[in-house]
Amino acid sequence: MNVDVSNIRIEKKEPEGEMFDVMGGSARWEVKVHDHGLVALCDVMPRMAPVGKTADFAIVQAARVSYGQGTKQVNEDRGLIRYLARHRHTTPFEMVEFKFHHVMPIFVARQWIRHRTANVNEYSARYSVVKDRFYKPSVQSVRKQSTVNRQGGDELIDEMTAKEFCDYLDKADALYADYEKLLEKGVSRELARIGLPVNAFTEWYWKCDLHNLLHFLSLRMDAHAQQEIRDYATAMFALIQPIVPIAAEAFMDYHLGAVQLSRLEVEAIKSGQGLKTENKRENAEWEEKKKSLGL
Ligand SMILES: Cc1cc2nc3c(=O)[nH]c(=O)nc-3n(C[C@H](O)[C@H](O)[C@H](O)COP(=O)(O)OP(=O)(O)OC[C@H]3O[C@@H](n4cnc5c(N)ncnc54)[C@H](O)[C@@H]3O)c2cc1C
Repeated sequence: MNVDVSNIRIEKKEPEGEMFDVMGGSARWEVKVHDHGLVALCDVMPRMAPVGKTADFAIVQAARVSYGQGTKQVNEDRGLIRYLARHRHTTPFEMVEFKFHHVMPIFVARQWIRHRTANVNEYSARYSVVKDRFYKPSVQSVRKQSTVNRQGGDELIDEMTAKEFCDYLDKADALYADYEKLLEKGVSRELARIGLPVNAFTEWYWKCDLHNLLHFLSLRMDAHAQQEIRDYATAMFALIQPIVPIAAEAFMDYHLGAVQLSRLEVEAIKSGQGLKTENKRENAEWEEKKKSLGL
């Protein structure tokens, strides 16, 4: 089918005021993570913002379309963004988008890929040779299994066991030599890769809007997330913070580290008679919440 667009007239409008590049003319902003990892901010929408504003302006612009004249009471940009964040009026935040390039261990990527609202294009170890890069924590940072949940805790393991763990990871280097040898002998890349461990690095381009990015950050900057993915999430927050400082501040104030109370918990506070549940886990969570509320 032929589509004729030659008679459609496109009108190109000049911006109303002076604009600036929110990335300051850079091709990308990079943060190194661990030894081989990387978080690079490659692009932002809106890339251009009115002088005197930040990319936050796109959130306000979108919100004003839906609120129209009704925004008169909350017509200051910061106040409006904070109001939207508090009331989870999220769609205006979807008007800002970020494109990243990430280099991370496969075990981090597996947790990351569960966040389905991003657009992802990953390096193919089927078509390309896996690079000789493996994640190894330092001997001084090997975490012990937590005794209160099923995760790694904050406590470090004794030095001898930490060294043993690092030796165990060093075997990945030997596996890489075998991988290369087998590739040279003609084994296909798609098969040779399957003997490599999950601390090998992968990379991808990852594009996400601000609303879903903040959802990702609230889960992955949180203390319950694995430290390695937290390191990446924190680097991403550092990169977007100067681009959308008002939204980032609202996220820190209202969402990150916020405590959500169930109806039963609200009743427990009101009555002063404790939580009405037999469930041990729920009770433990309530104790944790009480601590963070200073109760
Ligand atoms: C500390 C921690 C521990 C975890 N442990 C495990 C584990 O042991 N095993 C495991 O499998 N996963 C685990 N996860 C992953 C978790 O279950 C989520 O898959 C992940 O956090 C992504 O969350 P999300 O679905 O809200 O995000 P996204 O996929 O980014 O989705 C954002 C929102 O969009 C909506 N949405 C997106 N896709 C759909 C859909 N198809 N249908 C309906 N709504 C949709 C939902 O409202 C969702 O909240 C863990 C995550 C964390 C943070």
